[in-house]
Amino acid sequence: MSEKIGIYVCECGPNIASKVDIEKIMDEISKLEDFKDKELVIKNHKLLCSNEGKEFLEKEINENKLTHLVCAACSPRDHDTTFINVCKKTQLNPYLYRIVNIREHCAWIIPDKEEATRKAIQYIHAGMNRVLYQDSLFEKELDSNPDVLVIGGGIAGMEAALNLAGEKRKVFLIEKEENLGGKAVFLPEQKISDVQKNNNIKVFTKTVLDKLIGFMGNFEVVLKSTENPDETTELLAGAVVVATGYEFFDSKKLPEFKFEDKDDVINSLDAERMFSENKKITLKNGKEPKSVTLVHCVGRKEVGFCSKICCDYMLKISNYLMEQSSNIKVTHLIKYLNLPYKNSQNFYNKIKEKGVEFL
Ligand SMILES: Cc1cc2nc3c(=O)[nH]c(=O)nc-3n(C[C@H](O)[C@H](O)[C@H](O)COP(=O)(O)OP(=O)(O)OC[C@H]3O[C@@H](n4cnc5c(N)ncnc54)[C@H](O)[C@@H]3O)c2cc1C
Ligand code: SF4
Ligand code: SF4
Repeated sequence: MSEKIGIYVCECGPNIASKVDIEKIMDEISKLEDFKDKELVIKNHKLLCSNEGKEFLEKEINENKLTHLVCAACSPRDHDTTFINVCKKTQLNPYLYRIVNIREHCAWIIPDKEEATRKAIQYIHAGMNRVLYQDSLFEKELDSNPDVLVIGGGIAGMEAALNLAGEKRKVFLIEKEENLGGKAVFLPEQKISDVQKNNNIKVFTKTVLDKLIGFMGNFEVVLKSTENPDETTELLAGAVVVATGYEFFDSKKLPEFKFEDKDDVINSLDAERMFSENKKITLKNGKEPKSVTLVHCVGRKEVGFCSKICCDYMLKISNYLMEQSSNIKVTHLIKYLNLPYKNSQNFYNKIKEKGVEFL
C-alpha cells in the first residue's frame, strides 16, 4: 500500500497562528523534495483538540484513507493522548501517528516570525520522516505477577515491603548486609520486627541481585548470596522497588579536616546521632561548645556535583544548635548555597534572623 500522510497544522487560536506563518508552512511542506513520491494531505485547523477538531480529524483520516498522520500542534504532554484516541476510532493504527510540538518549541519561544516558521517547517519535516519509520503495533493483555522484589532493607525498603505485602502479594526483600535497618540513625527495631513477623514478606539478608530478566509485570529474578556466589535463588516478580539508599562521601579521608588528630571535627551524621541520643551536641570532653563552624560542600569537588540537599541539612544542624543554646556562636562557611525549595529559603531567613552567620 502506498503511503498517504496527513499533516494537520493546528493554529491553537492565536497561540500558534499569530507567531508562525501557517500558509507558508503548508506551502513549503507540500513542496518537500524527498516527499515528492508520497501522497500528502495538508490542512490547518483552528483548534484540533476541540470536539469539533477531533471530529474533523477522525473524518479526515477515514475519508482520505490516511496511512500515516502528523499533527503539528502543542506539547505531547497536552494532547498526544487526545490524538491517539482519535486514531483508535479510525482504521489508522495509532502507532502510525506523531505529534510535533510547534507551539512550545517554535511559536512561544522564537520572537522572530520568520525564524519560528522556518523551525516549524523543519520540525514537521522531521515528524513526517519519523512517522514513516514507525510500525503498527497492537495492544494485548498479559497476566502480570503480583509479587514484588524490594532491593535494600533500609527504612525505605522495609516501609515499601510492609505497604505492599498482603494476602495476594508476596514481597521478597533483599539486603546485602547481615541485618536490616540500613543507615537510619536510630535502628528502627519495631519496623524490623514487623517485617520479620510478616508472613507475606520473605527476607534475604547477605543477598544481592544477580540477574533480572523480563519486563514490567513479568520478571525472572536470580538472587545471589554475598557469602557464597554459587548459592543462588530463582524467583518470579511483577515489579521491582529499588531502595538501595545512598553512599556517604567519606569526609574523614580528607586530610585538611584532621579528623584523626582533632577530637571535635565531626561529620553531619555524627552530629545527628549525638543530637538524637542526648538532645544536644557536645565536645568530646562533655562540655557544650562555645562556637561551632559548619563547613559546606565537603566532597563536592571530589565527587564532581552538588547533592542539592546538604545546604538544607546544614541549616537543620544549626537550628539544633540554636535550640540547644543561644550562647553557641554558629557560623556556616559557604562557597555555594543551594536552597532550591521555597521552604528552604524561608528556613534560611529564619536561621539568619536567629543570629547564625554565613561567611
Ligand atoms: C541529608 C540527610 C538527612 C538525614 N536526616 C536524618 C534524620 O533526620 N533522621 C534520621 O534518623 N536519619 C537521617 N538521615 C540518615 C538516615 O540514614 C537516612 O535518612 C535513612 O536511613 C535512609 O533510608 P534508606 O532506606 O533510603 O537508605 P539506607 O538506610 O541507606 O538503606 C539502604 C539499604 O539498602 C542496602 N543495599 C544497598 N545496595 C544494595 C544492593 N545492591 N542489594 C541489596 N541491598 C542493598 C544497604 O545495605 C542498606 O541497608 C539523613 C541522611 C541524610 C543523607
Ligand atoms: S491541540 Fe494543542 S495546539 Fe491545538 S488547539 Fe489544542 S492545545 Fe492548542
Ligand atoms: S552547595 Fe549546598 S547542597 Fe550543594 S554540595 Fe554544597 S553544601 Fe551541598
